Amino acid sequence: MFPSVFSGGIIRKALDKGLMEIAVHDLRDYTRDKHRQVDDRPYGGLEGMVLKPEPIFAAVEAVRRDTDARVCLLSPQGARFDSAMAEEMASHRQVVLICGRYEGVDERVIRHLADAEISIGDYVLSGGEPAAVVVVDAVSRFVGGVVGKEDSVRHDSFAEGILDFPHYTRPREFRGLKVPQVLFSGDHKKIERWRRKKALEKTLEKRPDLLRDKKLAPGDSGLLEEIQNERKEP
Ligand code: SAH
Repeated sequence: MFPSVFSGGIIRKALDKGLMEIAVHDLRDYTRDKHRQVDDRPYGGLEGMVLKPEPIFAAVEAVRRDTDARVCLLSPQGARFDSAMAEEMASHRQVVLICGRYEGVDERVIRHLADAEISIGDYVLSGGEPAAVVVVDAVSRFVGGVVGKEDSVRHDSFAEGILDFPHYTRPREFRGLKVPQVLFSGDHKKIERWRRKKALEKTLEKRPDLLRDKKLAPGDSGLLEEIQNERKEP
């Protein structure tokens, strides 16, 4: 599953430039029995299989380089993965992601090996691998030099606690739909103000929860007031 995802786009470029490294480890390589068994039946009965603790502990202990490494188990029971978490993870020299399968992993992995449990959303995947891909992609955007212009990460959705502003490109008019005039004004101050206002407006419309406990930047409350007044107008 992994080579196809990591062999393109910004991740590939980051790997080629040596800005980061990705290593995929097969838990079976850390078994000691003839059948290279990584799973077993659950104690107490019931259906399904559980990933055994020994190969997971052995694998993490073999690949973990130092105490700065962050060991995360992907799990639907974890803290919800978000932009702030991605940025924090990018500050570690190494992140170890453990992918579960079947019914999940032996509870001792959760309690005594992982530093954190991370969920990518309130649904159950059949394995942690797609979640790991999501985490690697989001974290890599915060690794210095990975995203071409650092600026584009700065104004991306969530970076400043609000959504990104609207983007337009050529043509100037498409099926009668025009690009907002202000973007042709050449007045950078005016454009910046318009973008900030639209970003706040989008956030208010789509994700009002983000604004609830946000510390507003200078000028934001004035823009929000303008937006509220425009909404009131018939
Ligand atoms: N029985 C478990 C689910 C196991 S799903 C429960 O109900 O909590 C199998 C594996 O898929 C998990 O061990 C985990 O690694 C991964 N997984 C499933 N859903 C996920 C999610 N929302 N986020 C991250 N990983 C997930």
